[in-house]
Amino acid sequence: MNFVDTHCHLYDEAFDGDRLEAIQRALQAGVGTMLLPDIDRSSTPALDRLVSECPGHFFPMAGLHPTSVDGDYEAGLEHVRARLLSPPQGVKFVAVGEIGMDLYWDTTFREQQRDALRRQLLWAIEAGLPVCLHIRKAMNEVFGLLRDVGRPSYSGVMHCFGGSLQEAARAVEMGFMLGIGGVVTFKGSTMAEVAKSMPLESLLLETDAPYLTPAPHRGKRNESSYIPVIAQRVADLRGISLQQVAEVTTANARRLFRLGE
Ligand SMILES: [Zn+2]
Repeated sequence: MNFVDTHCHLYDEAFDGDRLEAIQRALQAGVGTMLLPDIDRSSTPALDRLVSECPGHFFPMAGLHPTSVDGDYEAGLEHVRARLLSPPQGVKFVAVGEIGMDLYWDTTFREQQRDALRRQLLWAIEAGLPVCLHIRKAMNEVFGLLRDVGRPSYSGVMHCFGGSLQEAARAVEMGFMLGIGGVVTFKGSTMAEVAKSMPLESLLLETDAPYLTPAPHRGKRNESSYIPVIAQRVADLRGISLQQVAEVTTANARRLFRLGE
């Protein structure tokens, strides 16, 4: 079985002690393709290193994460713009991400977050790339912004989708896929409802490693080798085989991010 982890941060220092072993475990679990969203200028060197050390397995994104939007966000955006316009040698970005709005921790830079999201969204459209959206406590705000930008449809994923079924339907209608991660294994999560009821063709699997570890590994560091745990939960919720979840979600990832082209 082949899986794609459409969202992980294996370049994070949480893996500095055993990165190669974590990658080996992922490959053994059938997770041969891992997509790497960037955070900001401080994470880019480690991301680039991982991509160049493991060609064929890791595919990078470029973007400024909403929690990294601060008083100096223009410089952060400039960094993203420069990378999109002239990617490092041999690098092909699969998406602009992760970008979005996060009003959970801090709302100080709300306007700046909006501005950074809008501009990066337009760069993605200009570059013909999908977007990877991070939305936390800001679902209505992001839907409003997408409406204001005014495209009839978008290309991308709402990663770690935490909205209601209604919001999921709205996202899919706008052209987005829904990122299903470890939260789907938590009791009473709305993500489980979404994973059960939305068309399988609109779902992507992701870990967000090192964060959001699925049960029964909760409390430990997350890693890409846990993708089959998430996939099994989706299979159980829908009453279909693990094989079917693997096939369809992998095809979804290949289509959205144009992997293997
Ligand atoms: Zn992430």
